[in-house]
Amino acid sequence: MEVVSTTVYPPEESPFKTIYVDVTHRCQMACANCYLPNRNIPDMDKSRLYEMLSRLPHKTDLRLIGGEPTLRNDLPEIISEIKRLGHRPILITNGLRLADKTYCEELHTAGLRYCQLSMNGFLDDEIYLAIDKMACAAKKEAALRNCISTGITVSISCILVRGLNEHLVAEIFNAARSFPKPARINFRNVGAIGRNSANSIPPLSMQEIVQLVSKATATPPEKILSSKTADNQIRFLSQPNARYSQQIIIKITDWTIFESPVLIDPKARERGRITQDFMLAPHFEHVKANEFGY
Ligand code: SF4
Repeated sequence: MEVVSTTVYPPEESPFKTIYVDVTHRCQMACANCYLPNRNIPDMDKSRLYEMLSRLPHKTDLRLIGGEPTLRNDLPEIISEIKRLGHRPILITNGLRLADKTYCEELHTAGLRYCQLSMNGFLDDEIYLAIDKMACAAKKEAALRNCISTGITVSISCILVRGLNEHLVAEIFNAARSFPKPARINFRNVGAIGRNSANSIPPLSMQEIVQLVSKATATPPEKILSSKTADNQIRFLSQPNARYSQQIIIKITDWTIFESPVLIDPKARERGRITQDFMLAPHFEHVKANEFGY
């Protein structure tokens, strides 16, 4: 992949509301759609992380990502320290370790209140085997149940793959009706990045995902499209006339942006990522710049 240059900021000049933190590049899965498949990078030095976080100028959402962050045994400590420094920890996880309720409770005690759980097959092992190369539906379902019962808000994240799992848009939306509200769902298409740099299946377009969501939620596509938060992102409330606390909030992100030579509108640049030098770069641009050798 072509390396592009990115703007970088020292922590005290962070313009970002949200920062992605690659705490480890290890993972116990080998998903076909992984955009961070390089496992030969040491775990992030937590002392340097804490020092950097202490210099941020405002409260920031810190999205702990990898690899799989739960493979770090000190994850509860990292979560506690993020809270102590006045920031908000968010876990981006494949959920395999969260199938253990005791572990889930440990993360909650450390201060975790929000996680994004990858469920590309939702409850269907056939789809997990095709996309994530592992029959893990039972563990994903247990992780979802454990988070809800422990008091960790879950956002279900599903990568939509043409011809494989488009029907999950309706299934996940219908299941979310029984989740604690507001329920959250993220859909995105496959980006031509990481393991997918040479993917032969054409990704679903933003417009196609909007059509799927429109059908599942009985919402006109124009209404969904009018809720763009950035060129490549939509966030819409799918329960007309309901209060925010009763909503099912659906996010759609278009990862075909990685095929575009030009990144990206200012709204999408509100998300940052930590570089190897503990500086900050815009998230999508940093991923595209490929500093970690994806
Ligand atoms: S997508 Fe996530 S869970 Fe899957 S291999 Fe990559 S880091 Fe691991």
